[in-house]
Amino acid sequence: MPKVSCDLHIHSALSPCASGEMTPKNIVNMALLVGAEVIAVTDHNSVRNSRAVAEAAQDRLVVVPGLEVWSREDVHILCLFANIALAESFGRYVFDALPNRLCEADIFGQQHLFDANSQVIGWEEKLLLSPTSLSVDEICHEAMRQGGVVIPAHVDKTYGMAVQLGFVPDHLGIRVVEVSKRGRQPPSTRSYPFITNSDAHNLSALAGSTPWKLDVTQLSPEGVIEALRKF
Ligand SMILES: [Zn+2]
Ligand SMILES: [Zn+2]
Repeated sequence: MPKVSCDLHIHSALSPCASGEMTPKNIVNMALLVGAEVIAVTDHNSVRNSRAVAEAAQDRLVVVPGLEVWSREDVHILCLFANIALAESFGRYVFDALPNRLCEADIFGQQHLFDANSQVIGWEEKLLLSPTSLSVDEICHEAMRQGGVVIPAHVDKTYGMAVQLGFVPDHLGIRVVEVSKRGRQPPSTRSYPFITNSDAHNLSALAGSTPWKLDVTQLSPEGVIEALRKF
């Protein structure tokens, strides 16, 4: 199997900080235009658009279900799963750990829920743009217990593990870290390989992104998860 082109950190318009144009169809079409073969839509603390994006992609793209969890230490961690049921189960655990604060759309933006045709089917009412009560340890432990893979997001920037904690604890089961686009890998994380995703919050960021290459034995969410574990 040749290497496949990946972007494993994209926000849909469920993330209040993302543009309303980040619908399932638009994400899939733009990802195809930049040559991605595998994507993950990783909204803040929610997987609720993952299913719609996977359905919109049909068999044109592999969509790995996941989310970007915000820990109580203000660290962002990508948590990716081999199938939607596992991701949704973990998503409920994360959702329950969010404060009971409503999203005020005029301050934070709307949190859109879509169907596969990119029709708005509702809005997430609880504010997703918030730290959960979960620690980095709890997030990593529970995600892996549920079969997932954890990747510290943008380690070189605000909300990155190297910035917030100063290092990447070696007991968390982390195999690879994410460095932001145009960023540099912090010295404290250099014992880990790194990847660079778009972290796109709008279509132009996705359009300007370059997918990275991953060796997989099987072109499926399971195959991608297995490959990420082998880093
Ligand atoms: Zn982030
Ligand atoms: Zn992000």
